[in-house]
Amino acid sequence: MRDPTGFLSIEYQELVDKALDWRLKTIQGPSEPVAIVDGKEVLILCSNNYLGLTTHPKLKEAAIQATRKYGVGSGAVRAISGTMDLHMELEKRLAKFKGSEASLTYPTGFQANSGLIPQLVGDQDLIISDELNHGSIIDGVRLSRGERTVYKHNDMNDLARVINEAEKRIPQYKRILIITDGVFSMDGDITHLDQVAKIGAEHGAMVYVDDAHGEGVLGEGGRGILSHFHLDHKRVHIEMGTFSKAYGTVGGHISGSEDLVKFALNKSRTWLLSSSPPPPVVASTIAAIDVLEKEPQHVKDLWANTRYFKKAVEDLGFNTGVSQTPIIPLIVGESYVAKALANKLYERNIFVVPIVFPMVSRDKARIRVQMSANLRKQQLDDVISKLESIGKELKII
Ligand SMILES: *Cc1c(COP(=O)(O)O)cnc(C)c1O
Repeated sequence: MRDPTGFLSIEYQELVDKALDWRLKTIQGPSEPVAIVDGKEVLILCSNNYLGLTTHPKLKEAAIQATRKYGVGSGAVRAISGTMDLHMELEKRLAKFKGSEASLTYPTGFQANSGLIPQLVGDQDLIISDELNHGSIIDGVRLSRGERTVYKHNDMNDLARVINEAEKRIPQYKRILIITDGVFSMDGDITHLDQVAKIGAEHGAMVYVDDAHGEGVLGEGGRGILSHFHLDHKRVHIEMGTFSKAYGTVGGHISGSEDLVKFALNKSRTWLLSSSPPPPVVASTIAAIDVLEKEPQHVKDLWANTRYFKKAVEDLGFNTGVSQTPIIPLIVGESYVAKALANKLYERNIFVVPIVFPMVSRDKARIRVQMSANLRKQQLDDVISKLESIGKELKII
């Protein structure tokens, strides 16, 4: 007899045997640098809360007020009866902030990518994707009927080679989509978006950037990667992002032309068939844009901490790879070394995660440190001194 669900425990056990299963750590309280995790007070260095906005008083107050006025749910998908004036206001504010004709919000960033990408390319079209793009892009690409190809990570010569060879092979592609992360989440490097846009323009290709880790971080006042490179939506046609990182709330979004937004909302199944974000989330996201516009110190603090910490760990002899952003990996080589480093830091009340194969190549295991605006210098100094002693103990430095 066939055992209908036997594979569940077998496959789970395989992950456990390879130490690839997730053991969840529980945060008992708000997401702040100092938090109680599984009953113990630790410093969190693995949060996407880059600007500390998850607990900003203006965002909390906006959520409370919106809950009083609108309740906690929107009651429907956007297309039926789930569009509130709050959603429209958020999209207007976001478009203004991004300098785009229009913006559209999705329930999550994952849904923006997995819902929109498959609609942009059909079976006579080509997608060219950076090999280290985020999983939500990979899923979006898999759901599309276009031909798929990848270029070497952030390698502009390889991008040009791939697009030239593809066009020679099949000159009649109707559309070409070049898609890339803006800031790469494992290495913290920034895509050469100016060159991607140039190569795109030479071939009449659409250019799509996922700026999840660049928003609130790069560009003027945290406006993101287009601002960082002084590009506009005529050169980079689709700017995608998420409110779940620096903005401190949750929700995906795209910005670009009016035509893009009208197309996206009529075609993305994840937009049409998934309920709209709840009022307290939408209101606090509007407040996050307010804070970005009126309180530039958060982005400045984030970068001051980033420069200070990166220099200190590099001076100690740690390898931070190609990091250019508040994502600072400490690359140590073998998986067991990365795990030992993370464990020893945790014993000493510092919470970071080891990133090992298959997320990165076998010889590039690391811990990934993420900076935040609300880390104090004294806290960073404490981390640096613990890294020095553990790094020596494990013979990393
Ligand atoms: C986090 C992330 C997403 C997904 O965003 P959510 O809003 O959390 O679903 C998409 N792309 C990249 C590059 C990300 O880092």
